Order: sequence, then C-alpha cells, then structure tokens
Amino acid sequence: MNSPDSHRFDPPGRPSGSHPPAGWIEVVCGSMFSGKTEELLRRIKRARLARQPVLLFKPRIDNRYDAVKVVSHEGVNADALPVSTAAEILERVPPGTAVVGIDEVQFFDDAIVGAAESLATRGVRVIAAGLDQDWKGQPFGPVPALMAVAEYVTKLHAVCAQCGAPGTRSQRLVAAEGQLFVGGSAEYESRCRACFVPEQVLP
Ligand code: ZN
Repeated sequence: MNSPDSHRFDPPGRPSGSHPPAGWIEVVCGSMFSGKTEELLRRIKRARLARQPVLLFKPRIDNRYDAVKVVSHEGVNADALPVSTAAEILERVPPGTAVVGIDEVQFFDDAIVGAAESLATRGVRVIAAGLDQDWKGQPFGPVPALMAVAEYVTKLHAVCAQCGAPGTRSQRLVAAEGQLFVGGSAEYESRCRACFVPEQVLP
C-alpha cells in the first residue's frame, strides 16, 4: 500500500482461533473511472478460482449497460443479481456462501450497512465497490458509513482529465437533477481536488 498504484490488495487468510470463522467487509471506492468495478471483479474472480461460493449483486437502478451483468467501463463483466433493496441481498444469500460482492453500492440506502455487517458476522467476506463522493464532491449515501465499519478500505484514483494528477472526484459535464447519477464518459470525467468544480460545468 505504498504507491498510488499499489491497490492490488488482498486481505490475510482466516486466522485460526476459538471463535467461529468470522467474515469481514472490504470497501473499494473512488471516483468514476478509477477502476472500482475492475478491482471488485478481480477479487471475485480469484475467489471463484479457489472454488469459493460467490454471489455478486448490483442495484436494479443501474441499467447503464446491462440488466444482469456487472459491466465496468473496460467491458470486464461477471454475472450479477440485480436487487432493489439491502434486505433482498440478505434473502438471496444462502448458507455456505463465502463471498458476496456488491457493485455500485452507493445506490443502496443506509440499510446496506447493517446488511453487510450481518453477512460479515455470519462469516461472509463482503466486497462492496462504489463511489465515495457524489458529483458535488459530497460523501455519497451509505458509503462513508460502510467505510467506517469495514475491515479494509481501498481508495482508488482515476486520472484527472484536466491536469493528469490523481483523480478523486467525478466532474459532471452535463445538466442533470439529483444526486443519483448514472452515466459514462459523455457525462462525467474524473478530476483532482484543484480542477474539480462542485457545480456542473459545460465542456
Ligand atoms: Zn487536475
């Protein structure tokens, strides 16, 4: 974890102890175009290669590319179950599930925090990926609380489209309403703190 690129992180294995095997929560966050989904899918793929039972969820609201698969901006994808609520995730995780991935976690409400904690207490490794800030640069939905209770937080950076510095914020380029944004490179670009304008800007 020494350089901006050293996010090839994997948590240690389960320690042996007297209590039942505990799970944990990993949060992968950052601005748009920071590779959050790629990192989530990398961790999911490695777990699947180890034949661990894995489930991947995404919020039903995000119909950006595909209703069933998690598709990153790079086109990497994996099967995912679209769900509307955190409670639905809990209902759909059967006993024996080792890993639960959640993409675009910022679109869930605060109940996702309790759901992730419940799963971790049951022994599940929870990997949640999402935006840490909205287009105004404000903490996004449940992500700050999730980061607080997580065992591991990986904050990824994009590249500022204006100056090339590490991009930490998602600059909105078109007019739109509300915090709940879904879009791609036509509507947003990543920017650093200095280049970010906390209002929509027209290119
Ligand atoms: Zn910049």
